[in-house]
Amino acid sequence: MKITNEQGLPAPLVALLARDFYTKGASQYSVTELMSPPKIRRLREQYDADMEIDVTKMIASQLGTFMHGKLEAKEVEGYTNEERIFTEVDGVVISGAIDLQQQVEGGVVIIDYKFVKAWSVKQGKDDWTTQLNIYKWLVESVKRVPVKGLQICAIIKDYSAHDTSEGYPEAEAVMIDIPMWDSVTTEAYVRKRLEMHRNAKVNHEFGEELQACTDEERWMSETVFAVKREGRKSAIRLFKTIEEATELAEKEKGYVETRKGEPKRCTGDFCGVSKWCKQYQGEINVTA
Ligand code: SF4
Repeated sequence: MKITNEQGLPAPLVALLARDFYTKGASQYSVTELMSPPKIRRLREQYDADMEIDVTKMIASQLGTFMHGKLEAKEVEGYTNEERIFTEVDGVVISGAIDLQQQVEGGVVIIDYKFVKAWSVKQGKDDWTTQLNIYKWLVESVKRVPVKGLQICAIIKDYSAHDTSEGYPEAEAVMIDIPMWDSVTTEAYVRKRLEMHRNAKVNHEFGEELQACTDEERWMSETVFAVKREGRKSAIRLFKTIEEATELAEKEKGYVETRKGEPKRCTGDFCGVSKWCKQYQGEINVTA
């Protein structure tokens, strides 16, 4: 992958941001790779030499990585920092790096740091539940230590004390409890994902179409209906159904504007391979 510097940032900053801090050890799949869509992994592998990313797009993730590095070095009694655990499933090595394990009576509580925007905390993320439950399964099946709880330590990058909307985080860092799965459910999930990745690899080698990314994997936003009035810039209210929006628009003597949901991972090229993706390119060509 080529790293560009479109803003002409100073060389030391570029060198720091471009450094690859990430390692998955001697495993074939990290937990996050296992969870990510097989199509993205295959296309990234295929187009690695042609992929480009501007260094400014690496800032957010690298700031998180720097903080992880600092936290990893901070040893406090009763806590185990950054431990990578390996296991083998059907001959494939999987590993997960656990940020923190807090020793509690009868076991540990797994804690994962997330450096996020407030909306992630407001919406909650299914991915967090899946990731932490795979860590739980690793700790219980490999280390044979019972897991008593799962928590996200969310550090909010864009916190605003003035925002009092429902679900908005109470402070710049909050602890979020994550529901726990049983090990049978988690192992079934891991095996299913492995099979998907294996099939994608074989199909891709034979030139067959890759399994489409799902709406969830594409970070599809919801279509909403905005009630608006002439002369007013912002919407009066947003609705999930056109019926509710139409009813208010009639009362307010306004009109309804449809804001169509979009696959944000594709449109923002957060997967890095949108220009080679037939699924997404096909959609653009249809709507163009
Ligand atoms: S462009 Fe969208 S559909 Fe295609 S690989 Fe990326 S996320 Fe998946």
